[in-house]
Parts: sequence; C-alpha cells; structure tokens
Amino acid sequence: MSDTTRPTASPPRTVPADAAFDGILPHRADDPAFDALLAPGARLRRLATGAAWSEGPVWMPGRDCVLWSDIPNDRVLRWSARGGAAVEEAPAAFPNGHASDRRGGLLRCEHGNRRVIRIAADGTRRVVASHWRGLRLNSPNDVVVASDGAAWFTDPPYGIASDHEGHAAPSEIGACHVYRVDPVTGEVALAADGFEAPNGLAFSPDESVLYVSDTGYGLGGKNHHIVALDVEDGRRAVRPRVLAVIEPGRADGFRVDEAGRIWTSTDASIDVLAPDGRRLGRVPVPERVANCCFGGPDGRTLFVAASTSLYAIGTAVRDAAAAPFV
Ligand code: MG
Repeated sequence: MSDTTRPTASPPRTVPADAAFDGILPHRADDPAFDALLAPGARLRRLATGAAWSEGPVWMPGRDCVLWSDIPNDRVLRWSARGGAAVEEAPAAFPNGHASDRRGGLLRCEHGNRRVIRIAADGTRRVVASHWRGLRLNSPNDVVVASDGAAWFTDPPYGIASDHEGHAAPSEIGACHVYRVDPVTGEVALAADGFEAPNGLAFSPDESVLYVSDTGYGLGGKNHHIVALDVEDGRRAVRPRVLAVIEPGRADGFRVDEAGRIWTSTDASIDVLAPDGRRLGRVPVPERVANCCFGGPDGRTLFVAASTSLYAIGTAVRDAAAAPFV
C-alpha cells in the first residue's frame, strides 16, 4: 500500500470582503444576452484561500454554507458569510464531487475509498456505490442526483493514477464509465460508456439530456469537451455527441441553470454555454478552475472552486434543480 501520511495542511484563510485582489478581469460577453445572466454590477470575489486543489463545491441550504473538497490535502472545507472559512472534515478519504440529494442528504465521491457515500442530515453514513459487476470502481469523481432519487456518477482514474489525490492502484474495471445507482434496489448499472475520462456531469432541466465532460487529454488522451447524451427510460444515456470543445484546458465540472445553460469550468474561466453549445460569455478567474455550484440564500450566487481558492459571483439565475431554494 502507498504511504499517504502528509504534513498537516494549514487551515484555509477567509478573505475579507473589502480585500483588494489583483488579477480579476471583467467578464466578457460573446452574446448580448450574457450580461443579464449576472447580477447587476456583479464582480468575481475571492472568499477563501489556502487549499491545494479545490473541487466538488456544494451549497448546504440548511446550514447556509458551501462545502468543497481540497483533494490533495485530504479534507473538506467550509465557507459561510457568517463564519468565514474553516476545515469541515479531515481526513476525508480524498473527497471530490458532492451533490445534495434533495432529501437533506449529501452525496460524496471518495477517491481514497473508491466509492460514493451518502451522509444523512444526522451524520449517518452509508455506501451508495463501491463496485460494478464485483469489481472495485476506479475513483468516483463527480455525482448528480436525478429527480427520481437515482445517483449518477463518473468514474475516471484520477484517484488511482498516483498518490497525489488518493492511492495509486491498477484499475479493476479497465475502463472509465458513467454509472447510475437505482434508488430502490441500490443496483449500480452502466449508464454510459465510450469516454476517455468522464468527469463533470449534470442534467438538462427536464432531465432528457445528460451532459458529461471528458477530460482525457490531461491523462494522455485527446478529449477536452462536453458531450450531450439522450436519457432513455431514466436509466441510460445514449447517442453521445460533442456539444462544445473547451479551451483553454478542460471542463472539469459544471452546472446547468434553470434555462438549460451550462456554467462550466475551463482552465482560466467560467464559461456560460447555450444549450446548443454556443458560448454566451466568459467570467475570467485568476486561478485554474475545477468546478462550480449555485447557492447562497436565494440560490443566485455561483461559487467557483479554483486551485487554492473559493470564489463567488452574483447571478440572476439559479440551478436547474433549484428545489432546495423554493
Ligand atoms: Mg471533477
């Protein structure tokens, strides 16, 4: 087994609201409709810093805070307007993507244990998915919950490719798929295949389309795009087509708003794409971006997990699954 003992990381630091921060550029519209998607006068703010690699942000409606993963430091961080930044949990099995399941539970991808777990509001934990056809998963990366309660997740090799974000190990499955966990039986079933490294995922507002980013090129593959697939019977995602090639870098994670627009990370920005893949505008971010989520008391803040820091910008729109905010 690999040695994962690491020096204890420093606590995250809250960035005061009035702190000057160089490197934040004005957003840029490619389409006249873009400006109306942001709050009037919206400007990107840095809320907290001190992470090694930030991923998996999720808004916790009952606690008025954002949780996010600092994967190489093996911890979950927290930020709230009232309490600032703090460590939520450490060690945390090299956490990555999170999703609220709309019933007060939190789903978490664990690279370290190569599984998806559910954390109930009372703190009770159970394993949602750890194997497929008797084989261990690679390292679940990002997860989303459909309105029927099914968890859909991606399973690229980032958590087993080295000890940096988990524990180096061979892949038992030998491929990187998207899986669906049945909300009644708990069965882990193949939902979509044909990816180099499936990473972020989200549904269209009516859940007829599943979007999946493929970030294989950072692993020696060639893909750095978002694929759209048709959801069949609520169980399979088929007929993949490339919706948008992401430049610079890749779409590690993204969210879909109530009108079906995709708010995606690139290596340098949050890009907003129309449902047909056309770019509507870009919010430059001064660090490499991994993921984002809508949150805040009214659901109209976009939180951005980017390398060492957590950022936020006010929006005029909410997540497609905005039920927690109604
Ligand atoms: Mg990811």
